[in-house]
Order: sequence, then structure tokens, then C-alpha cells
Amino acid sequence: TTSTYLQDIGAKHVTKGLGRITGDAVMVRAQGSWAEFEDGRQLLDFTTGIGVTNLGHCHPKVSQAAANQCLSLVHGQCSIAFHEPYLRLIEKLLPIMPDPSLDSFFFWNSGSEAVEGALKMARIYTGRKGIITMQGGYHGRTFGAMAVTRSKTIYSEGSGPSMPSVFVAPFPFWHQLSLSPSAPEEEVVKKALYQLDLLLSQQINPKEVAAILIEPVLGEGGYVPAPPSYLRSLREICDKYGILLILDEVQTGFGRTGKYFASEYSGVSPDIMTIAKGLANGFPLSGIVSRTGITEKLKPGIMGGTYAGNAVACAAAIACTDVMKEEKVLENVQQRSKELITSLNKLRSRADIGPYILDVRGVGLMIGVEFASPSSVSTYDPNTIAGAPRNLASRVAKRCLEKGMLILTTSIYEVVRFIPPLNISAEDMALGIEIFTQAVEEIVK
Ligand code: PMP
Repeated sequence: TTSTYLQDIGAKHVTKGLGRITGDAVMVRAQGSWAEFEDGRQLLDFTTGIGVTNLGHCHPKVSQAAANQCLSLVHGQCSIAFHEPYLRLIEKLLPIMPDPSLDSFFFWNSGSEAVEGALKMARIYTGRKGIITMQGGYHGRTFGAMAVTRSKTIYSEGSGPSMPSVFVAPFPFWHQLSLSPSAPEEEVVKKALYQLDLLLSQQINPKEVAAILIEPVLGEGGYVPAPPSYLRSLREICDKYGILLILDEVQTGFGRTGKYFASEYSGVSPDIMTIAKGLANGFPLSGIVSRTGITEKLKPGIMGGTYAGNAVACAAAIACTDVMKEEKVLENVQQRSKELITSLNKLRSRADIGPYILDVRGVGLMIGVEFASPSSVSTYDPNTIAGAPRNLASRVAKRCLEKGMLILTTSIYEVVRFIPPLNISAEDMALGIEIFTQAVEEIVK
């Protein structure tokens, strides 16, 4: 595309530290599953702004609720006074919590802030310092969140040292345990638990661990659902040693996996849960939810933030909870998920394409396709096929973009991730699958 005045501003004056999959292109408006660019391109958006616009861009009810709120109260400031949308949002969230004991809320702006707040709360509550995070986990780019992020070195490169007392256990993911994609779930779980066991006997005494932090479906790190039995074992270990279990549902929450929260698949209740992204469909809002007993130890003033729990963002989030019910969004996720997984498996069963696809995995509309292609980092990965084209995932994603669809990859493995809107129509889903199929055919051949 030809460079425009706006693109030139972006190219010259926006920090070089920001990477973008569309280069210097400028998005001007977006509606539902579609995003329009300054050059007139209409792109099918299978990124949802990284799992945020779950109800589609500019959902009329959500935008209207925000617009109305803009005319009555924009900034209440939570350390000055409660405001109505803050409390009404809690009223809406309480009945959908995965466990009724999760009844104490603090709203913030971003997922990173929520994670940092959760870690801080866990240290204060337990009086311990140790934090166990998972290999491949992504929790944000601010210092504390960066300290527990283990999906890619770029996020913390050159800026450390960051927060101390962080220990890393493998996520129950076959790659990390040197297994094959067809390894039985019990073997994956057994190996991951054995490594955690070693960590707790060789690296840090469990009595010094404040929290274990995990995404119920590994996001950035490769789109891998944690087996329910692994999460249940984590719960048992936490209970045995008085460790808090923090589930980061920033990406998985609010219907992304086909249930309101991914933890519902295992029935495991966290002590603290972090939420953001789909919570307000694009308005900056995150939250830390915990048992009241945990927040009772916090002195007033420990939590706060100028924009925390902004009234407009809370009003949008309230509308989201209504739309989820009124439009039966969870049912749509189940239906579209089946179509997507069936189509991807069909593609994988083809003689010409199959050998290049290592794995199709995920739940709901959080689906990853891993290619059997050597990536820039997995030089020693025994699962890749010798002679397969390198970096298939990023090349397929790039080809999708050329064909009119925005789609993302994950961190170090060759995974293309599907995160379309949760209320996507059957037609748009079929179109996305068609574009992806053509892109794979063209790149693999
Ligand atoms: N946790 C998870 C699981 C995430 O996916 C993300 C964002 N991708 C974050 C935390 C950080 O959220 P934010 O970018 O809003 O700071």
C-alpha cells in the first residue's frame, strides 16, 4: 500500500519497541468481525485485538452503554468514592463466578496490573515470598508481570533484573516434557507433576511459596489447555502447603473457551483469579477476584490506581454480561468451535497437508494449529519434519493477511492461533477457514 500522512507519523514517531503484524497500516473503524483500514481494505478479524473484542468490534449495546455513561460520570476515582457502575458490575459478576467463594473484587485497567496485584496480595496474605510460574506462561510486560512471564525472551530482554523469588515449573505440554503430540494425557501430567515435585524439594521449600500462578489454557505459550487432572493436583498441592492458587483467566475468561471461565472444565476453584480482555470488550478494564478472607488482610490503601475500575469501562462490562446472556453467546461458541475443529482436522487428514500439521488443539474459540516446521528456536525439536519449510506459522499468518484476514501466531512454537469473536456468524467462520486453508495450501506447496 502507498504510504500516507498518518503512516508516516507512525513510522517516524511511534516507539520502535512496538511490533505490528500489519506494519504501518492504519485501522480506521471496525464492526463485528471486520476491521477497515485507511487504504480501504476490509479485513476479517480473527485476532479480536488479542482475545478482547469477544462480542465483535463496537457491539451496539456495549458502545451505547459506554456512550450513556460518558454523559453522566466518566471518572469517579475508586479511592475517592464508589461509583454505581463499579458496584453494579460486581452484582452482575457474582452469579457467574466459577465458585461463589470468589466474592471480593478489585478492578484495574490491564491484565498485567491485575497479575501484579494478585502476586502482591498472595505475598501479603501468606507472608511468603516464593512465586511459582509456568514455563511458556504469559502474564504481561510490566516489571512484576514480566518476572512471571516465560513465553519469549524478548519481553524482558535487556531490562532485568526483575522481581526475585520466581521459580518456573513446566506447563503440562508435551513439547516442554520432550514428549510427542500423541503422548497420553496421563503421561504428560505425570511428568509435569514430577518436575514440580523436584522444584519443591530441590529449589524452594513449599512452606516458602506464596502462590502458584497458571493460565488454565496456556495462551501466548502455545494454546495448550492444562489437563483437568493436572489442575486438580495443583489444587491439592496448594491446599497441602498453604500455597495460594492463582488462575490467570485474562485471556480464557468470559466465554472464550465455551464456558464463562476455563476453570469450570476442571472444577478447580482458585484462591485468586485475574480477569481482563473480554470483560469489557475493548474498554480497558481488568480485575482481581478472590475470597474475602484473603483481602481482609489488606490495609486500606494497599490497592488503588488513578484510573482503576473506570466508570465507562465498568458500564461497558455490565452491558457485556447482558449481551452474553441475551445473545446466547456460549452456545454460539460451542457450535462455531465444532465447525472450526472439524475443518482443521479435515485439513490435517489430507495427504498433501497432513504431514505439515503436528497438532490441532484448544477449547471453545481458543484453538491452535501447530505446524511441523522448524522454527527459529526449536532447532532440536524431534517432532518437526526435516526439510519442511521453516517458520510455517508466521508465513501462513502473513499469507492470510494478504488474503484479507488478520490472524496471530503464538510465541516460540509454529502455532497459528484462532481467536475469532465469540458471536461470529457461521458465514464469517466458514470464510476464515477457507482463507486459512488456501493460505496453508499455497505456503506448503
Ligand atoms: N495474562 C494473560 C493470560 C494474557 O493473555 C495477557 C495479555 N495477552 C496478560 C496477562 C496481560 O494483559 P495486558 O496486556 O492487558 O496487560
